[in-house]
Amino acid sequence: AAKEQGRNRYHYFTDSMQQQAHYRMRLIQDLRSAVESCAFQLSYQPIVELKSGQVTKAEALIRWHHPQRGQVSPAEFIPVAEDTGLIFAIGNWVFQQAVKQSAQWREQFGAEVQISINKSPVQFRDEGSHFHEWLQTLQQQPDGGICIEITEGLLLDTNMPVSEKLLAYRDAGVQVSLDDFGTGYSSLAYLKKFDIDYLKIDQSFTKNIDSDASNQTLCEAIVVMAHKLGMKVIAEGVETAAQAALLQQINCDYAQGYFYSKPVSAIEFASLYLQPTAIAIHSE
Ligand code: C2E
Ligand code: MG
Ligand code: MG
Ligand code: MG
Repeated sequence: AAKEQGRNRYHYFTDSMQQQAHYRMRLIQDLRSAVESCAFQLSYQPIVELKSGQVTKAEALIRWHHPQRGQVSPAEFIPVAEDTGLIFAIGNWVFQQAVKQSAQWREQFGAEVQISINKSPVQFRDEGSHFHEWLQTLQQQPDGGICIEITEGLLLDTNMPVSEKLLAYRDAGVQVSLDDFGTGYSSLAYLKKFDIDYLKIDQSFTKNIDSDASNQTLCEAIVVMAHKLGMKVIAEGVETAAQAALLQQINCDYAQGYFYSKPVSAIEFASLYLQPTAIAIHSE
């Protein structure tokens, strides 16, 4: 009976592994055709300046509507895109879309609305000549129009000319955000080595900031440190008025989260941007 059970378990195990492999292969195929047919959209999440309560920036977040499965989270398909090299086509599409949107808003608003795009370490590492193509495009944009979000892991990768690339971006008028700050490696040495404009405090710290004293202390310390190093701070994942008030109280510069707005279409973003003060309740 034990042997029987063992065999069953073995079968069960391989079946589920096969299912997983099959599922992943389907995802790769579907992602490949999505790239070919440009089946993506960009959503824009407002970033609010806490001092004024105004929407001043946007983070571009990719959306994929799968014909059968509906919305697939980028948290699921970006890693697959990275493994398969599809990230380069996807990343270029995101970039071009963001640059176009930035020009359109500039014309519509008569002001610069900075758009942040996420760039994964894989893109940095293996992008080849795309880097120079991006730079050429960026040099033609007004300064500060585009911000690139990177993560801590990238800064610790000594195999990459990260420093040079970030400097070249800076020369082209691009700003740089450090995304998900506090969740990566704990070395802070890189903060003085690289020119970074914004620290984005990860949502795991902003969550419960109003009820958890140690989270509040951490956020406060991050703000003080960032300001002393000449950086501004953006709090991610702000979901309540109490959290927003607390962040304002500890001198955090910007906030982003469902309390203000979920990521929305470019058209919905425009109406949020044009209203006098940011308020909540906008769903995807
Ligand atoms: P991220 O860059 O840290 O983006 C923030 C994520 O938090 C977004 O999830 C956003 O919808 C979500 N979020 C915003 N406010 C709140 C809130 O108040 N509460 C909660 N619980 N969540 C909130 P999303 O759009 O699903 O993206 C997930 C991740 O996928 C992003 O994390 C980013 O790492 C990656 N990603 C998204 N778009 C792109 C892209 O165009 N290129 C690359 N390379 N990565 C992308
Ligand atoms: Mg981001
Ligand atoms: Mg983040
Ligand atoms: Mg992230």
